[in-house]
Amino acid sequence: MWKRRLELTKLKEKETLLFSKKGNMKTRAALLYPDSYYSGISYLGFQQVYRYLNEEGIADTDRYFWENEDDMITMDGFMNLSDFPILLFSLPYASYMDGAVKLLKKASITLNKNARRMNPVIVAGGPGLWLNPYPLGNVIDLFVFGDIENKLEPFFDDPIGFIKKIDSGELKIPGLLTRLPEKREHLLKEITYTSIDSPPPHSAILTEESFFANMFLVELGKGCVNNCSFCTVPRIYHQRIFRKVSDIIKAIDYGSKYTKRIGLISSMVLEHPGIQEILEHCKSRDLEVSTSSLSVMGINEPLAKLLNETGNKSITLALESLCEKARIKAGKPFTDEQFLAKLEMVLNSGIKKIKIYLILGLPGDKEDAEKQDKLWSDMLKLAKSRGGRFHFSVNPLIPMPFTPMEKLRMMNKNEIKKTYKAFKTRFSGADIRFESVNDAIRGHRLAFSREDLLEN
Ligand code: SF4
Repeated sequence: MWKRRLELTKLKEKETLLFSKKGNMKTRAALLYPDSYYSGISYLGFQQVYRYLNEEGIADTDRYFWENEDDMITMDGFMNLSDFPILLFSLPYASYMDGAVKLLKKASITLNKNARRMNPVIVAGGPGLWLNPYPLGNVIDLFVFGDIENKLEPFFDDPIGFIKKIDSGELKIPGLLTRLPEKREHLLKEITYTSIDSPPPHSAILTEESFFANMFLVELGKGCVNNCSFCTVPRIYHQRIFRKVSDIIKAIDYGSKYTKRIGLISSMVLEHPGIQEILEHCKSRDLEVSTSSLSVMGINEPLAKLLNETGNKSITLALESLCEKARIKAGKPFTDEQFLAKLEMVLNSGIKKIKIYLILGLPGDKEDAEKQDKLWSDMLKLAKSRGGRFHFSVNPLIPMPFTPMEKLRMMNKNEIKKTYKAFKTRFSGADIRFESVNDAIRGHRLAFSREDLLEN
């Protein structure tokens, strides 16, 4: 008990809390993340829910990160999970559904919702379950699809009564379900969001123990202007939202009181109509900016220059495939020549480190091997002449539900390993990070599965 308390205390001492908790809240809840502190605190969705519930005085919310420890106590109050009447799961990935069940089992909380009889009430939300929540159908009392804001607040006044009303159909709120529809297509319309006029989600806590060490994250928008055939973003975020420039700047100014490091989060950073103004504002305040991965075709000279001037030492580009045909077919409509021209633009701006996302296994990506080798050798020549460096982040294709590629067969473990090995040999000397094979396989299984995790 003391060992875990000490670990959590040390982590808390490194945190800067960017909001004040309202006093005298009558309902207590624990927000659960079925993975490490490092991973959970790096996830803006988790931070947003934690801040929203506490700052608005909706529920006195503690945090729990699962690090496989025996002593399962919460981060803020060092309490056992069984001491909370409400447990809220934040699930960014489908593969976390497994972890959620293991965590509950280990905490000796009754899994079966009928047997548990809402003691405690268990709520779950997050993009990890919006496309296939079925494996948790018999565990979770209330599913939240989309944002919790303007949706879940009345639940905290009378959690059990609220769930009974939703369950009986007396109360209907889009995005809140106690029973899952037989046809999965009905899930999509449940994913609803706050309006464009809502302030952009932003960091609630700064810490060096995060992937974004001491960086203030601001969401620029949701959804994507593109429609790549392997990607779930356009299916999950069917309402495309660009946050207002004035609200984004207000959030940045607030965050910059605590840190000079600002992270702009979105699938369409460069497509935001106000991106130039936002970057210029950061530059005028001498802030260091980092961004989510950037679309290749969104880059132009003024933006590349601004990204460099705002301290972007490295950027991430989503190339997806070295094979031009496979890339274009998957929805990334740019040729090798266009990619090389954009790369040159970035390197000329002064940014020298470029991370490149690749997916192995896209239909047709084994074709045109010579052309692919030529692209790679042209990239190397460019990097050499401009003092640049590449780092590859490589994933296997995971055909996901509701995407045009959902019916494709997922590679098995051995096939992924072989594909990784062949890639490593072919591009020997390149700096490459491969996605975990087990995570990819588990993510795919849980994205489609109708298995009942109660049975495992
Ligand atoms: S892969 Fe990127 S660009 Fe394509 S739809 Fe998804 S988020 Fe948009």
